[in-house]
Amino acid sequence: MQTARMVHKVGLQLLRQGRARPQSWCSFWGLKTARNFANKATEVVLDKTGSVSSAKDKDTQNEMESKSFAVGMFKGQLTTEQVFPYPSVLNEEQMQFLKELVGPVSRFFEEVNNPAKNDSLEKVEDSTMQGLKELGAFGLQVPSELGGVGLCNTQYARLVEIVGMHDLAVGIVLGAHQSIGFKGILLFGTDAQKKKYLPKLASGENLAAFCLTEPSSGSDAASIRTTAVPSSCGKYFTLNGSKLWISNGGLAEVFTVFAKTPVKDASSGAVKEKITAFVVERSFGGVTNGPGEKKMGIKASNTAEVYFDGVQVPAENVLGEVGGGFKVAMHILNNGRFGMAAALAGTMKSIIAKAVDHAANRIQFGDKIHNFGLIQEKLARMAVLQYVTESMAYMVSSNMDQGFKDFQIEAAISKIFGSEAAWTVTDECIQIMGGMGFMQEPGVEKVLRDLRIFRIFEGTNDILRLFVALQGCMDKGKELTGLGKALKNPFGNAGLLLGEAGKQFRRRAGLGSGLSLSGIVHPDLSRSGELAVGALEQFATVVETKLIKFKKEIVNEQFLLHRLADSAIDLYAMVVVLSRASRSLSEGHPTAQHEKMLCDTWCIEVRAECFKRTEVREGTVSNPFFIPMFSSRQQPGFGKLWPACSQTPNSTSSFETLKASLRQWWKREV
Ligand SMILES: Cc1cc2nc3c(=O)[nH]c(=O)nc-3n(C[C@H](O)[C@H](O)[C@H](O)COP(=O)(O)OP(=O)(O)OC[C@H]3O[C@@H](n4cnc5c(N)ncnc54)[C@H](O)[C@@H]3O)c2cc1C
Repeated sequence: MQTARMVHKVGLQLLRQGRARPQSWCSFWGLKTARNFANKATEVVLDKTGSVSSAKDKDTQNEMESKSFAVGMFKGQLTTEQVFPYPSVLNEEQMQFLKELVGPVSRFFEEVNNPAKNDSLEKVEDSTMQGLKELGAFGLQVPSELGGVGLCNTQYARLVEIVGMHDLAVGIVLGAHQSIGFKGILLFGTDAQKKKYLPKLASGENLAAFCLTEPSSGSDAASIRTTAVPSSCGKYFTLNGSKLWISNGGLAEVFTVFAKTPVKDASSGAVKEKITAFVVERSFGGVTNGPGEKKMGIKASNTAEVYFDGVQVPAENVLGEVGGGFKVAMHILNNGRFGMAAALAGTMKSIIAKAVDHAANRIQFGDKIHNFGLIQEKLARMAVLQYVTESMAYMVSSNMDQGFKDFQIEAAISKIFGSEAAWTVTDECIQIMGGMGFMQEPGVEKVLRDLRIFRIFEGTNDILRLFVALQGCMDKGKELTGLGKALKNPFGNAGLLLGEAGKQFRRRAGLGSGLSLSGIVHPDLSRSGELAVGALEQFATVVETKLIKFKKEIVNEQFLLHRLADSAIDLYAMVVVLSRASRSLSEGHPTAQHEKMLCDTWCIEVRAECFKRTEVREGTVSNPFFIPMFSSRQQPGFGKLWPACSQTPNSTSSFETLKASLRQWWKREV
């Protein structure tokens, strides 16, 4: 408890305004065009992932070439501005503040919070909740003048990583409150709304919840049935409906609720049902909730159905614009995804530490099991997955702090990658621990249970994969449309045609596009840089071929979209680790060689995977679904794959190197 008080004091002393800025609404090329050919599911995907934009936003976006690496890679471009060099966004003051928070927050989770007890009680212990409030943990990104800690996204990510290391259920209580519950007020709230609600939310006196899902509306969020009918006097809306599986639903006082409202089209006069977001207080009356759900994991976080029965919501509690609720919902979700990746990077750290500990002590066949190659390979792969996730989380949070507007594909990738990597890492930890891993006592089975939901909520990974692929294809499609138009007037567009046609011809002929990361990545990583460029060229060729082949029908090619998304995820991961390891090598970080090893390993392996997935040659294998079955599965030898173990398959000395560098890595300061 003393620890808690100490942090609170530090927090109060050093309160400051974070640098988080509201992001302009994501828009992408030709949404109208996309809508013309999108089937319903795709339309929902586009909506759900935040691609609805006002005409003004679209114009602004069109004027600016996207700085997003992910957008560029679909077009066969190396857009490096957002990813190289690996961003360091914290100034000295912010870094110092963060250092002062990291120690006490870590100690709080080590000494006060009891994850097993929370799990068995199916609630966070009262004393822990109180301690978290004193820590300021309920208002990490609320500006200091409104009672919060005022952290920027990168600082927030670092603290969330600590929460993820210790207790994902507590992470959900905190995340449902601030990452989605009241984030809408931060991003879209009027001054009056912020002043009224944020101080009590930041202190934890009031809890918040985010109410989108309904019994008949999950991934298809546009199909919600909750209604909010405006009164004839215009002073309030009457809210009716129910929301399903709402985190903090049984505890919250303040709810961000999405409901259908009638909206009159200014030009046609027609009335349409559109989604509007509201800030709803339990004290308005008519708000009730069901019992806490019995769940597989994150049991300490409350999940409940919430009912709104004739709730009178004042008109001034509309969040954003009437009819603009989808934008609010998707913006909130897009803004919070990096936090999930950061938390899961922390989870993986603690899980790997448990696996290493066990492997270093368990003796079988007369030897410590960490001396066996199979165990070494597992640990090595776990370390790589953790490194990639962590690198993505901080890349996205930093990009947001830098004020980049176009990070939605990257944020979605970080959520998909982190949630799947954490699952694999924890499953492998249990395997390394054998029967002991299956027991409750070491706490790994709880983590596995807790982790499962991360692939489902805040956009299922499947829906997010569709988003990654479709959003990328839309941008590329725009370029192809431009080319199509240019072909109709070749003389007026000779420059464009020569440049594009030349690029496409070279790529298709396998001559290379002239792209290079030389001079951008550290020279020691040049081979991995070449692998990334090669993978990108191949990926872009497949995207182009498939867009030309399927045109608008690509929206129905989910097998293909899935594989494009997987390749996009792997490619982005390659570039992110190349960037981070390059920075460490250039700046002579003590962990630089370890990072180089992790980066090279990832790039070598992923290049082979991308090749397999995108090896689509017309006339041979036309449906990528069959590629995994037909491919010769040419895996590089393990020695090549994993430099740490390259001497002999079970080389103790190389494993000792890995352990030593892991230890050093874990110990880094912030
Ligand atoms: C513990 C927990 C906490 C939650 N907290 C909240 C909360 O705080 N607030 C909130 O609003 N919601 C919350 N949710 C709801 C959560 O966001 C939804 O469960 C999620 O969006 C998925 O919706 P669904 O479960 O209805 O699945 P469905 O949408 O029914 O999907 C079922 C499956 O079909 C797939 N699928 C759906 N459509 C397509 C398509 N077009 N193409 C291909 N595949 C498709 C999905 O990927 C999924 O695999 C929570 C859920 C749980 C379990």
